Amino acid sequence: MKNEFNGINRRIWLSSPFIHEEERKYVREAFDTNWMSTVGANIDTLENNVTSYLGCKYAAALSSGTAALHISVLLAGIKQGDIVLCSDMTFVASVNPVLYEKAQPVFVDSEYDTWNMDPSALEYALKKYGKKVKAVIAADLYGVPAKMDEISELCRRYNVVLIEDAAESLSASYKGRKSGTFGDFNILSFNGNKIITGTSGGMIVSDNENAIKEAKFLSTQARDAAPWYQHSKVGYNYRMSNLVAGVARGQFEHLEEHKRLKKEIWERYKTGLQNLPIEMNPFPKEADPNCWLSCITIDPDACGEGKGKSSPNKIRTTLANLNIESRPIWKPMHLQPLFAHSDYITSNAGTDEDIFSRGLCLPSDLNMTEEEQNYVIEIIGSCF
Ligand SMILES: *Cc1c(COP(=O)(O)O)cnc(C)c1O
Repeated sequence: MKNEFNGINRRIWLSSPFIHEEERKYVREAFDTNWMSTVGANIDTLENNVTSYLGCKYAAALSSGTAALHISVLLAGIKQGDIVLCSDMTFVASVNPVLYEKAQPVFVDSEYDTWNMDPSALEYALKKYGKKVKAVIAADLYGVPAKMDEISELCRRYNVVLIEDAAESLSASYKGRKSGTFGDFNILSFNGNKIITGTSGGMIVSDNENAIKEAKFLSTQARDAAPWYQHSKVGYNYRMSNLVAGVARGQFEHLEEHKRLKKEIWERYKTGLQNLPIEMNPFPKEADPNCWLSCITIDPDACGEGKGKSSPNKIRTTLANLNIESRPIWKPMHLQPLFAHSDYITSNAGTDEDIFSRGLCLPSDLNMTEEEQNYVIEIIGSCF
């Protein structure tokens, strides 16, 4: 499809894989040495590279971020009937593993500084549910870290396990500490649209040696130490493939470069949209985000119909008609049919509903040229 503006001829994606030569090299090595399974140098090296980069002790490479969350839920001892306090505005993968174990999610509203879990609403939820709370799952949306110092302090005080869902925030940091190291268990994703990809894949990261040993055990069908196949626990087939690890290993060498390019995209939007009634997704000065996705909110008095106004839906459909992908903000979990019967805790009524109703994720693809991005900016301007 040809666009009417600059004759840009291809689809502009939200966030697609951005691949280099190293990925081919490590995948080829796996072929050449016949390490074509869930064991091999790419897996070991990826785990070592991630732990030394994050400054944490142990990691297990798994088949997806969702698998890493499920293993975290198991390691936290979450069982049927337990309460798990979860980010409300996030991707459903943050919460599905709670349902796998028949535990009960309770959703915690976001705050405006980071769009992530509001610590004061979290404290309210911890008081409300008391000893029934087993764990907290807090996500770092769009590459902006949550206020993890306050959240982890609350978890310590109330003696609950913290699982940090850093699927979107690898390479970001908060108060000088890397995203994906604040929880008792932390998860990363190498899905195709994340800041680096393995085509798929994920990782669980922790300073708890026994927990990561258990993660490796559970993710390889929970085989007891016996000469025959003996099992005393339910196991899973969740280990990462050495081919996937080859791609992720190559990508990892470009993580800082990707972060720099993502920040440039965010800055270009900020400058390009400055004369419109639009705000970029915020981050506090204590945070160094990876800018995985550049997002906007339309100012409240400019969101709607009429002269000088626009809506996320209008911008999204206008872009879509020109073969440009954008995406609504994650729809809050408490508004999902799947969670119609779950509780939702807020300290500032409906913050994330407000962000959802005025917000949009803009194309943040590393393959997008500056010219293409300027074209996107021009189209957004034409929507007001
Ligand atoms: C992508 C994502 C996940 C899931 O990761 P997969 O590797 O796709 O299973 C979990 N949580 C959040 C917030 C995500 O964005």
